[in-house]
Amino acid sequence: APLAPAVPAVAGARLDVPLVDGRQVPYANLDHAASAPCLDTVRDAVDELLPWYASVHRGAGFASQVSTKVYERARRVLRRFVGADASDTVVFTRNTTDSLNLLAKALPRATSVVLFDTEHHAALLPWRGPNVHRVQTPASAGDAVLALDEALRATPVGPRLVVLTAASNVTGEVWPIKALSEVARRHGARVALDAAQLAPHRPIDIRALDVDYVALSGHKLYAPFGTGALVGRADWLKATEPYLVGGGATAQVVDWGDRLGVAWSAVPERHEAGSPNVVGAHALAVACDTLAENWEAVVDHERALLRKLRVGLATVPGLRSLSLFGDDHDRVGVVSFTVDGIESGLVAAVLSAEHGIGVRDGAFCAHIATRRLLGRAGAQEERAVRISIGLGTRAEHVDRVVAALRSLVADGPAVEYAVVDGRWAP
Ligand code: PMP
Repeated sequence: APLAPAVPAVAGARLDVPLVDGRQVPYANLDHAASAPCLDTVRDAVDELLPWYASVHRGAGFASQVSTKVYERARRVLRRFVGADASDTVVFTRNTTDSLNLLAKALPRATSVVLFDTEHHAALLPWRGPNVHRVQTPASAGDAVLALDEALRATPVGPRLVVLTAASNVTGEVWPIKALSEVARRHGARVALDAAQLAPHRPIDIRALDVDYVALSGHKLYAPFGTGALVGRADWLKATEPYLVGGGATAQVVDWGDRLGVAWSAVPERHEAGSPNVVGAHALAVACDTLAENWEAVVDHERALLRKLRVGLATVPGLRSLSLFGDDHDRVGVVSFTVDGIESGLVAAVLSAEHGIGVRDGAFCAHIATRRLLGRAGAQEERAVRISIGLGTRAEHVDRVVAALRSLVADGPAVEYAVVDGRWAP
């Protein structure tokens, strides 16, 4: 049989971490949904750029020219990565949160915003006031389409924006984006996609999905922290003043005596005040290029590991997994769950201290979603454990976490744990 194509390598794949009994074991990072490890291609590209970076646009020196070229190339890469074209703008931001807050500041007056109430806080909170319509997320994807239609029917005439999370960070479930955008279009609404969790795991095509804006984060996409992007239609961003002001955002400032006359820069610079993160933009662009060249291998790798993980977790007694739309719904590599009789914080602490496995526990910055899904699953808690896989995950990591959970349920923790500063610790 032909060998499966290798997936791109990530940094830290062979890090050893200490266990509570003094042994060292290779770290199993099962927390990709929080922040993904850096790709080797990204690390090499950053290494190469570090001696060269300098101020973009404003400097005439050679290093400034290099930086400017690299930075503007990164924009083109991001645009292509989500299937956008030259009519769309790419604003570099700090992360998805920053991207969505920027869009919120750019909405025309009296824009109706419609969103589901199970969104991540980054997509839930930037829109406030009487024009925001929160739709309770129904228990099936088909009903979500109907519920959106109904909500849009009830909004007044005028500009409308539907905010959708492409893939849930609590359950990994992929939302029926195309079906929802069709409904939005029928009502003349624009659609913004919070792609923080989908972009690292599946190709996104802004045209095929028929959405207007895509927001994403570099640190979930195998690049370091500090860079994200908002890609999409430029008109609203052109019509609004920057919410962060300073150099770069301004084309000209003149002294009018009692006040300053300010002409803002064109978009996207208008929304990138201050010295931009050239190294971060380059890192993110290289990560996008690497994923784009390897989508088939990436998707196959994660599908196979997710299947293995779910089969394994089904053998853990008392494990309740969370889902928005049902167990069979399409999802990226995320599984959140509780274990009957063992607090989620303790489960996560045992996995780390006794097995060298990193997972997340809590309510995942999506309190409404997590609480509701825990209730639906019959869990006795307000927190869950989340395992999330990606390019740093190996089959051995999945075997280890399943074996660790089975042994925890069968025999309890190997040492004593107590809550210290609000967290379980040995
Ligand atoms: N949306 C979703 C679905 C997320 O999972 C996250 C990160 N947990 C965000 C938005 C926010 O991303 P960031 O913290 O990088 O701004």
